[in-house]
Order: sequence, then C-alpha cells, then structure tokens
Amino acid sequence: MAANWKMFKTPTETKAFFENFLPLVKDAKNCEVAVCAPFIDLPAAIDAAAGSNVSIGGQNLYWAKEGAFTGEISGPMLKALGCTWVVVGHSERRQYFGETDETVLKRTKAAIEAGLKVIVCVGELLAEREAGETEAVLARQFEGGIAGLTPEEFSRIAIAYEPVWAIGTGKTATPEMAAEAHKAIRKLASVSFDGESLRILYGGSVKPDNVSTLMAQEEIDGALVGGASLDPVSFSKIVNY
Ligand code: PEP
Repeated sequence: MAANWKMFKTPTETKAFFENFLPLVKDAKNCEVAVCAPFIDLPAAIDAAAGSNVSIGGQNLYWAKEGAFTGEISGPMLKALGCTWVVVGHSERRQYFGETDETVLKRTKAAIEAGLKVIVCVGELLAEREAGETEAVLARQFEGGIAGLTPEEFSRIAIAYEPVWAIGTGKTATPEMAAEAHKAIRKLASVSFDGESLRILYGGSVKPDNVSTLMAQEEIDGALVGGASLDPVSFSKIVNY
C-alpha cells in the first residue's frame, strides 16, 4: 500500500502525519507500506519512520547520477537519504511535465542502479478508454517504458495501473475493470519476465470505503493512493483494510 502525497505537506506537517500514522499501522504485517513524499519532506519522513514498518520513497528522479541539471534530484541522492522507493511515470508527470515512455525507462533503470525499488505508473486517458484502446495503451506504455528492463531490473519494480480519468476525480474504475487491466499488464509482463511475482497496484480514487472491494480482486495486489493518503486515519484504514 503506497501513498503518493503529490505536492502536499510541509516538513512540519510530515512529522505530524507520522506521529499519528505510525501507531495506527504498527500491526500491519500482511503488506508493505510506503509513503512517497515531496523531496523537501523526505528527511522528516525518513527520520520519523526509522525503525518502523513504513518505508519512504520519492515521486520522481532524474536519470543522471549528478551533473549540471538544475532543479533535479538523482537516484543516488534519494538512496543516500534513506529512500527505499521512487514513483516513476505518474500520469501527472506525463501530462504536465513531458514524461514519455522513453524517459520512464531511463528513470527506472537509473533508480534501480541506485538501489531503489520503483513503482512504475501506467494507465489510459478517458478518451482512450472510450475508444476501446485501453489494452493498446497499456501495451504501448509497457513496450516503451518497461520491456527494456533486464529480468533482474524487472524484479525490482511494481507497476501501478492508474486510469487517468480516475485519479483525483472521485471516479474509481470498477473492481472488474481494474482487474481486467491488471490481467492485461500481467500478460504483457509474462512474455519476457516473471509476471506471476509482479505486484500490480491499482490507483485512482482509492478510499477506505472502496479498498476492500478492489482488493477482493485476485489480480489487484495493492493500491497507490493519492488524496486519501494525506490523512493518517484515512490512509491507515486503507493499509489495515
Ligand atoms: C495518485 O496520485 O496516484 C492517485 C491515485 O490519486 P487519487 O488517489 O487522489 O486518485
């Protein structure tokens, strides 16, 4: 169960979140819990979560290790800070910051080389779903952004299926729609990789009151949670569903 805080919370708010959140999830033994926070919140999050069952991740990275790339953060920097995870290819980065399948692959490889685990995001736009193109979009994103990994690299990623029309909109894919997309992703993965061991998270308006029906689908291995992860009680209910 992974939180994606997007561009929310200051370091002080981060500290307060963890003070409330950690006691609520301390007995969550059946799932891995991660919080992916804005860069400036990472030191506070890592300090607060030290020794707990919650790991911390970034929401993006640049593929060079270091260099003249003003404003960027590298994989070795995230790793040195104590991050375990990083999110790559979130639809907001594809939509607003020019992320492409090609740069998703570069970032993912760089993150793995730095020793991070990666949540790679894929998902279709509303118009693409309405045109019946969901599986073709997933195949294109997989071929361009993921298929170029080695099997060893692939074992370090989880994939988040996030239909873009369901992110932050309150519209959730039905559990069946999500399961169908997850099945398609697992089939793509199984061509060259160990698709069975791949964890596929669903993301898109996951809330405490819909998490159990989504997770009841065998194909859904976890959730990437935006809005509902900002509140410690709400995210703890998702973790503990
Ligand atoms: C996300 O940011 O990845 C996400 C799924 O957001 P939300 O849960 O708010 O739809």
